[in-house]
Amino acid sequence: MTQVLVTATGDTYHAFLRCPALAEEAQELGHPVDPVDQPLKGLRQTACPECWPTISGFDDWRDLEMEVERLGDSPYEALFVKNVLRDVADLDPAEVLPKRDVEVAPGVTQHVDFVLPSPVGHRVAVQVDHPEAEGLQAALEDAGWGYVSLTKEQVTEQSALCVAQINAALRDPKAPRPTEQARAGGAPAPKAPQAAQGPAAPAEAPAPKSGLGLVILGALALLTIIVLVLVLL
Ligand SMILES: [Zn+2]
Repeated sequence: MTQVLVTATGDTYHAFLRCPALAEEAQELGHPVDPVDQPLKGLRQTACPECWPTISGFDDWRDLEMEVERLGDSPYEALFVKNVLRDVADLDPAEVLPKRDVEVAPGVTQHVDFVLPSPVGHRVAVQVDHPEAEGLQAALEDAGWGYVSLTKEQVTEQSALCVAQINAALRDPKAPRPTEQARAGGAPAPKAPQAAQGPAAPAEAPAPKSGLGLVILGALALLTIIVLVLVLL
């Protein structure tokens, strides 16, 4: 948990007492500002651009990590930035959107922990240490999104597996969720055969008809039956 310095009137939180911005604030007000130590979580202020960049190891990922700790409801969300997102190749921290309401169908929004931009055009929603919201994955995937849900154990102990899952979802909008075996620490699940998929639709566009999922399911069932019959013959 990160402790930061805040004043009653300032709109930024600081790393240390001798930050020049604190002296300026006191000078403008004409009296001492008496900074106090506060946990970052729940603060409304943003990171002071004068003192934080001078802290050793501070970079755009650490800035995002603090933003997530400030806004988040689980400490594992900031850990996800530190342990996983930082190691995802070609991901720009400035394009990672924490804590977003996304429209999965006209008039239907869902809250997700992270929205990631994908190099192939769709977007990926990530839930961290989050109870499964019924229908969220299906609604997001029907709207052309990728979806990854990670447990706190995965984020803490299996960061390489998490990075692999994020990479797969960024490159494939219908990347499957990990199986129970993968969640328990086994190898990543092999990909299920996929029906032909159309171009990824942005979430703002009208969602494909909900019947699409059923059609794909039906096609897969039919395919399975055909394969079974062929095997039996
Ligand atoms: Zn400062």
